[in-house]
Amino acid sequence: MDLLIKNATVRGETDSVDIGIDGDYVESVRPEIDDTGAVEVDAAGGLVLPSFVDAHTHLDKAYFADLAEPPTTGTLPELIELTGQIKQDLTVADVRNRIERATREAVANGTTKIRTHLDVGAVWEHTSVEASLDAKAELSDLADIQTVAMPQVRSGEPEGLTEADIDRLETALEMGVDAVGGEPNKEDTDELERATIDEYFRLAAAYDAEIDLHADGLNSATARTAEYVARKTIDEGMEGRVQVGHVSALSYYDEWHRRDVIDLFDRAELNVVTTPKEDQIVADHDTTAVSELLDAGVTLSVGHNNIAGTISPFGSLDMLEPAWLLAHVAGLRSPTDVADLLDSITHSPANAIGLEEYGLAPGCRADLTVCAESDPMELLRTRRPRPAVIKSGEVVASSSASTTVGLEGDHGV
Ligand SMILES: [Zn+2]
Repeated sequence: MDLLIKNATVRGETDSVDIGIDGDYVESVRPEIDDTGAVEVDAAGGLVLPSFVDAHTHLDKAYFADLAEPPTTGTLPELIELTGQIKQDLTVADVRNRIERATREAVANGTTKIRTHLDVGAVWEHTSVEASLDAKAELSDLADIQTVAMPQVRSGEPEGLTEADIDRLETALEMGVDAVGGEPNKEDTDELERATIDEYFRLAAAYDAEIDLHADGLNSATARTAEYVARKTIDEGMEGRVQVGHVSALSYYDEWHRRDVIDLFDRAELNVVTTPKEDQIVADHDTTAVSELLDAGVTLSVGHNNIAGTISPFGSLDMLEPAWLLAHVAGLRSPTDVADLLDSITHSPANAIGLEEYGLAPGCRADLTVCAESDPMELLRTRRPRPAVIKSGEVVASSSASTTVGLEGDHGV
């Protein structure tokens, strides 16, 4: 056996198990495997989960807070403007280094599956795509990175998605990005917005790509992008291959309209990703209708979104952090709720972004996170450093923490 994890707690089992790994795959999960591993990890009763998955982030703008002048008003337009100023000076190598730093930080915390949006606007053009594809290849031993090309359509541009925007998207798809992104809410009118969404679907079909849009990140019942995306998903036969992020507006619809829209999401197999860290710090954002989406069986994931950026200067790249925040924002506190929260950073995003052979069962890829805590509630509460992170059957990160409390000679906790 190439790798043996001893004394692991796995969800749904009361007794501890051993996990045997051969090559890149989980070979067996059962009590007391009577074999030795070339490498052995003692989980010491800690939870072992399939790798955390971040289905919505922006690695290319990671750590922009280091470079920004302090904001004067802190309004969203000013913060977006600061982001724009920083972009002007960055090279492919600069962006690549930020992506690598962020990826390593994510891996250390147990996230080896990341879907990142990439800015393909007029300033950067393909700087970010080039940097990301290079980092994706170079870091493939540590993490699996998916990429989404996202045009930057600014409010007040009357023509909507321009020929230049479409050209840049097509080039990005030819370079190898996985999904078409965008922010259709920025368009001036419903007609332009729908024409933009139609164009995204046309490109996705032409390049056999997924679709992943920022949608309805507004505390307004008039924001109705996601429902058009859902309808279009059904019309184009793209069920299960489309994700929408934020969707704050869902919380602002009246109950009856919200029910209809969630039913439409369900029929479209539309994947929803919420980013509570960002949505709580931006004044006109809010968290989507979490409990109703979960009750309806819609695939709901938690994303990290920006990492130490201009809009949110926070973000530890530990997926347990936004999950913990969502617990508070959405009032999730029971053991069943905590199970949903763990799903929202593991199985749900894995399903949403189409990861194959994902999980803990024999035959799944051995991409696993060993946690210090044995109980899911305790895991969310304390979020201690992950003792081991395994990618393709190899330990790619490890952490330890020891704390002493008390007067000299009496350090009992
Ligand atoms: Zn985003």
